[in-house]
Amino acid sequence: MVVDQKVNGIYIGGEWLDAHSTRPVQNPATLEKLTEVSYGGYDEANRAVAAAKSAFPEWSTKTARERSTFLYKAYQKMMEKKEVLARTLTLEQGKPLSEAMVEIESAASYLLWYAEEANRVYGELIPSSKANKRLLVVPQAIGVIAAITPWNFPASMVTRKLGPALAAGCTVVLKPASQTPLTAIEIVKVFEEIGLPQGVLNLVTGDAKAIGDAWTENPDVKLITFTGSTEIGRQLMQKSAQHIKKLSLELGGHAPILVLNDADIDLAVDLTIASKYRNCGQTCICTNRVYVQNDIADEFISKLSAKVGEMTIGNGLESKTTVGPLIDQSALEKVKEHVQDAVLKGASIARGGREWTGDLEGYFYEPTILVQVNKEMKVMQEETFGPVLPVDTFDTEEEAIRLANHDQYGLAAYVITESTNRAFKMMEALEYGIIGINDVFPGAAEAPFGGMKESGLGKEGGKEGILEFVEMKYVSLGVRI
Ligand code: ADP
Repeated sequence: MVVDQKVNGIYIGGEWLDAHSTRPVQNPATLEKLTEVSYGGYDEANRAVAAAKSAFPEWSTKTARERSTFLYKAYQKMMEKKEVLARTLTLEQGKPLSEAMVEIESAASYLLWYAEEANRVYGELIPSSKANKRLLVVPQAIGVIAAITPWNFPASMVTRKLGPALAAGCTVVLKPASQTPLTAIEIVKVFEEIGLPQGVLNLVTGDAKAIGDAWTENPDVKLITFTGSTEIGRQLMQKSAQHIKKLSLELGGHAPILVLNDADIDLAVDLTIASKYRNCGQTCICTNRVYVQNDIADEFISKLSAKVGEMTIGNGLESKTTVGPLIDQSALEKVKEHVQDAVLKGASIARGGREWTGDLEGYFYEPTILVQVNKEMKVMQEETFGPVLPVDTFDTEEEAIRLANHDQYGLAAYVITESTNRAFKMMEALEYGIIGINDVFPGAAEAPFGGMKESGLGKEGGKEGILEFVEMKYVSLGVRI
């Protein structure tokens, strides 16, 4: 299904503009070309910053209540359009329509939460040690912010940044991933339809490096909020050093799930599957490694393997599909390479282990389980970003913690146990920014999401999320007494 011959993805100062060239967007399930989207670069990126800069004085001095009203209207409009948005998302990204719908609702929830939170960015009056001084902390929007978002959650990664930025009084330049620009374009249209003032939100689709360079080099961009790979995050950080630009980074992860021997095994199986195979394993917080306690390992693996065998691969638009395609050829190649590497180093395939060759042309790989794995394998160290689950075992909790803590990453980790005592011990020892205990969907608009170590800087969501976009100005006021 073709969406339209050509879609404009450059929105600057309230106008949809043409770029010199376009690039195709394809459906990863069918390899069908959906449309061509404008391919902007350095110049468009800088023009977008100029528009955001001129909109900043008026937007940042609106009352919090006024900004909140815009966000609330955008939330309502997004919910009204959720079927269309979910369908667009599945077409360009591949995830099952039911998952796309959950994502759109979750994306809208960030607008609702920050519509509320806009009204609660408080300052402080500090008790002074001098009688003739009053010490104040005054929160102010930091200015124009640049948001760069990935393709795995093309809606929620956009609103998780827009919501708090706009609520705080910042104006925004946004670049979505080149694989999935259509959902972002639709979200920008939502804001256009609710009458967001011109220049407050600007969009540039196109050359990632050129746009990234423009925004890191431009001193008018005061913060870059980025979700994507650790590698690109590191590059943005290096380039941002020139202007000491503030960064908020949500980067890669390598989440372990620890299944303790008192766990409800059926629950552990369901949660592991939900965490691993959602979005075809293309989620930064999805389970990358299972560690199951030895005395329950056989039962856990056989139940897991049976249930994974029941999953239905296919086009996300079909209701029976539970696993969609990978995003592109390089994603498929990476999955194949990780499985091959594991097998060469001694792993056995308990389920799957092959490219899926059904009746569709797309980038499909069978839901896979690997056993007899060890930490030398790529799949145990690097993000596979695909439907491959290595299962290892442990004897003691100390061993489990040692195995689970990763040298590089610290985004999310999960513990499945019926014991609150054990859960707390594990939670405190795990070096991860997000811990799910008998829960593998920890993301929520009201909670601070973010990683430790090379998984990132700063938080998104919660009351913490808006503070990334605020400068806390300290004021010392001399008074005559
Ligand atoms: P992934 O490997 O998941 O695609 P990336 O980090 O490559 O993750 O991409 C995440 C986002 O960063 C996308 O919007 C992508 O276009 C963008 N991006 C990629 N390279 C650069 C770059 N050099 N500068 C700025 N943004 C980039």
